Amino acid sequence: MTTIAARLDAVRARIAAAARRAGRDPADVTLLAVSKTWPAEAVREAAAAGQRAFGENYVQEGVDKAEALRALGLEWHFIGPLQSNKTRPVANAFDWVHGIDRLKIAERLSAQRDVHLPPLNVCIQVNVSGEDSKSGVAPDEVAALAQAVAGLPGLRLRGLMCIPEPTEDTALLRARFAVLRRLRDELVAAGLALDTLSMGMSHDIEPAIAEGATIVRVGTAIFGERVKPVSTPVSAGSA
Ligand SMILES: *Cc1c(COP(=O)(O)O)cnc(C)c1O
Repeated sequence: MTTIAARLDAVRARIAAAARRAGRDPADVTLLAVSKTWPAEAVREAAAAGQRAFGENYVQEGVDKAEALRALGLEWHFIGPLQSNKTRPVANAFDWVHGIDRLKIAERLSAQRDVHLPPLNVCIQVNVSGEDSKSGVAPDEVAALAQAVAGLPGLRLRGLMCIPEPTEDTALLRARFAVLRRLRDELVAAGLALDTLSMGMSHDIEPAIAEGATIVRVGTAIFGERVKPVSTPVSAGSA
């Protein structure tokens, strides 16, 4: 068994255990393997071990990988920040976009989605951590954005997504995830057919599943530690 296959097994076991502890069916939690920075060969290895859904953060890298692996029939999720001038390739190379936080981005994705493809699945990203996080819409702005996005013909609004601030405090993480769950419940009560809570990463799968996650986005625990991009030249003699 390859390293990636073994790690996938371990992550699946964590998901199943967390779901059972929460009285949930493990089959109701989808594992999204976050393959950003890893080569197409790593994705191929995970796919050979039965993994179907992959998450990417960078437009060109994700488009290239999806294209290179088209024959495998995998499902591609864009989970990174998206600028409005980069929506066109994302609208057509991906099956899902998780980080919608502005109507303008949603409108562009809807208009640019090929009419021959099924609607693009999207989640609205919510800032559940207040001032500790800058990405996502504020909880009190979610309902208006959700109603507007739900009306766009090229998109299918599936639910909500969040990235809490990094912390070891499991009780705090649960409280953050609970905010997303309650917002989803309110939107469903208001008539939107939402089935997705995209929350939980390598270090916080368990509290996310305890609060109702239906998609967990896991990179490091499957592929290993990502190498941080070098942003400044390394000068000779520096430590
Ligand atoms: C990188 C990333 C992940 C995966 O994080 P890990 O800690 O490596 O599991 C999940 N979600 C988003 C939005 C990411 O950018």
